Amino acid sequence: MKIMPNRMDRGFYQYQEEFEQKALEVLRSGWYVLGKEVTAFEEEFAAYTGAAYCVGLASGLDALWLAFRVLGIGLGDEVIVQGNTYIASVMGITINGATPVFVEPDDYYEIDPAKIEEKITDRTKAILVVHLYGQATNMEPILKICKKYDLRLVEDCAQSHGACFQGKMTGTFGDIGCFSFYPSKNLGAFGDGGAIVTDDEQIAKDMKIFRNYGSEKRYYNKVVGTNSRLDEIQAGLLRVRLSHMDELTEEKRKIAARYLAEIKNDKIQLPMDIPGATHVYHQFVIRCKERDALIAYLNEKEIGTIIHYPIPPHLAEAYHYLGWKEGDFPITERLAKEVLSIPMYNGMTEEEQTCVIDAINRF
Ligand SMILES: *Cc1c(COP(=O)(O)O)cnc(C)c1O
Repeated sequence: MKIMPNRMDRGFYQYQEEFEQKALEVLRSGWYVLGKEVTAFEEEFAAYTGAAYCVGLASGLDALWLAFRVLGIGLGDEVIVQGNTYIASVMGITINGATPVFVEPDDYYEIDPAKIEEKITDRTKAILVVHLYGQATNMEPILKICKKYDLRLVEDCAQSHGACFQGKMTGTFGDIGCFSFYPSKNLGAFGDGGAIVTDDEQIAKDMKIFRNYGSEKRYYNKVVGTNSRLDEIQAGLLRVRLSHMDELTEEKRKIAARYLAEIKNDKIQLPMDIPGATHVYHQFVIRCKERDALIAYLNEKEIGTIIHYPIPPHLAEAYHYLGWKEGDFPITERLAKEVLSIPMYNGMTEEEQTCVIDAINRF
């Protein structure tokens, strides 16, 4: 049986009629940018996360770089971030001229809270927490550090829609929570999309100004902004998906529960739960010393996998200018050689799950 790492078509067919109706409704409305769908989505997504405000944007990367822009973090400032993240987290920092300061991850693939304080300097302005793969980070020690050193806290929730730490949604712990609605994310649009959530009214206001050429009132431009608006059609389709978010999250958690219970192979290390945190399994990431042999073996059985991520940002060509070299972050680098995301998507059949489990157990 051919199984792909992700099947976004399945997510569409789950609620096909509702998606098609909404798309037609927006197409026929004659209003396509910054209208009632965006406003309604912003209200509904803020309510979903428990934040006071949400501002729709064009992508997750925009949410990140605009977050630092609005907080006034730029040239000469340092932002602490885990080494094993997706490169967009780092670009959100460097687009503003700020410097990323990498911290090694812990056994849960999240930033290791015990290794943050040693990286703080008088230039440190913020911590960017990434709730990687969909598991909420242990926020307790991080909140303490932010308080102690008076640091801003930004959360990269591109993979963690609906994940909580001690019952509180990711994205609501710090100054700004940044979300992506790229189609493959847990709350995915049918194209690009993003948003920030915040409890700070001024931040929400500033974000709305920045996303629309720096203008609050048409043709009166207060700052050099950008064009980063969530389309009406994407906002409308996101509202449909959001209304089913609890079922969708539960479905992924059920698949993960099967994987956790039924994958039994001494060569494979399964993901572990952080006490107090929930995992929404944007990715189900296993670890294997013989990772590349495992990929080839699964390929032969027509089971697709993805590596998140094969090259850590500090070794990316784009960041040669930061001066890092191989060996500088050994845990991050080892993970890049051992992690593997196995198929995990809404609409995955039990038969497909069984096929993946059996294949991995026979490796
Ligand atoms: C997807 C992703 C982003 C970027 O989101 P886009 O909408 O693709 O710009 C940022 N950070 C993480 C961790 C991501 O997974």
